[in-house]
Amino acid sequence: MELNHTHDAGRQSWLATANAPGCDFPIQNLPFAVFRRVGSGEAYRGGVAIGDQVIDLNALSRAGMLGGLGAQAASACAQPVLNDFFAMGPAAWRELRHALFALLESTRSATDADELRKCLVAQASAEYTIPARIGDYTDFYTSIHHALNVGRLVRPEDPLTANFQWVPTAYHGRVSSIGVSGQRVRRPMGQSMAPGATKPVYGACARLDYEIELGVFVGQGNVQGEQIAVDTADGHVFGICMLNDWSARDIQFWEMAPLGPFLGKNFATTISPWIVTMEALTPYRQAWSRGADEPQPLAYLESKQVRAEGALDIQLEVWLETAQHRARGDGAERLSHTSFKYQYWTVAQMVAHHTVGGCNLQPGDLLGSGTISGPSKSEAGTIIELARIFHHCRVGSLVPRRVVIGI
Ligand code: CA
Repeated sequence: MELNHTHDAGRQSWLATANAPGCDFPIQNLPFAVFRRVGSGEAYRGGVAIGDQVIDLNALSRAGMLGGLGAQAASACAQPVLNDFFAMGPAAWRELRHALFALLESTRSATDADELRKCLVAQASAEYTIPARIGDYTDFYTSIHHALNVGRLVRPEDPLTANFQWVPTAYHGRVSSIGVSGQRVRRPMGQSMAPGATKPVYGACARLDYEIELGVFVGQGNVQGEQIAVDTADGHVFGICMLNDWSARDIQFWEMAPLGPFLGKNFATTISPWIVTMEALTPYRQAWSRGADEPQPLAYLESKQVRAEGALDIQLEVWLETAQHRARGDGAERLSHTSFKYQYWTVAQMVAHHTVGGCNLQPGDLLGSGTISGPSKSEAGTIIELARIFHHCRVGSLVPRRVVIGI
């Protein structure tokens, strides 16, 4: 991944809102989504964010303003899901990004400008849906700080499981309940075991939690039985979205032994509609390292490229707005802030490990990073970690105990 002119912070668009300070969608970003006009009944199609607008890639494709591979890529984005575009691979993704950058930076003629303006839809009048047909969803568990914080709840004497520093662990999640931002989530019903109780009860989840994560959309996959090498794994990733892994803690802690999460996780997962491409994230790459006193990755998870630029410094914040906040007229409250750079395993290592046994990834598959917690208390990515005292959990057959989170 090399920096190029599309990362130059000095470049601006002729669309003024893209250049406003603090704008989420400057010309250097250009994330992808699937959208339509609210209430229009139109077909969903691919779009790219710029300023306060969405470039309608179906309209742009029909306008004939692109040529070659860029035109083919835009045509693939005219569909209601982006799987075909993902499957085209990094050369096509790059070609379309660079073509859009050129069109948005300056137009060759007044006619071009008029044509391009006809392809813009105001974000204020857009609605979004899942950007790809997600075949499979895997949720990893790659923050050592999160693993320690939660581990101290359930195994205070030995909080980190023996495999954590060797294996990027994960479980296979549920696709049908994935929605985009704004998804309405009904409080799940289920079984839970109260401290001191002798049998479980059925009722509404009393400990609904969030998990701040990133979602990784797979671009080109692999043939079953063949591995994706860690050195080439980043090239199989189209981009990254936000992901909230809604978690019913009371249901989860009672049910998860011995096979892992089930109903405590499968009722809803929310992702952002926008996917930021790996090329756009290049300036945020950092060196990745493992402490000298820690286990070093096995050879199939080790590479010079991962060491040089495997970490991504993506800043993340959790804000909460409750009915009480609204009733009081208060704004949303920031609960924590952290960075993806703290993750124990990189995106490339997750992809390489996922396929090392021969599992085939497919375009549009979604990988969750696992909760992203940093080293300090203010960087915790769940309520269960932020809570000082958590006294309602019982894990499997463990004796109920009152526990204090050690953060
Ligand atoms: Ca999770």
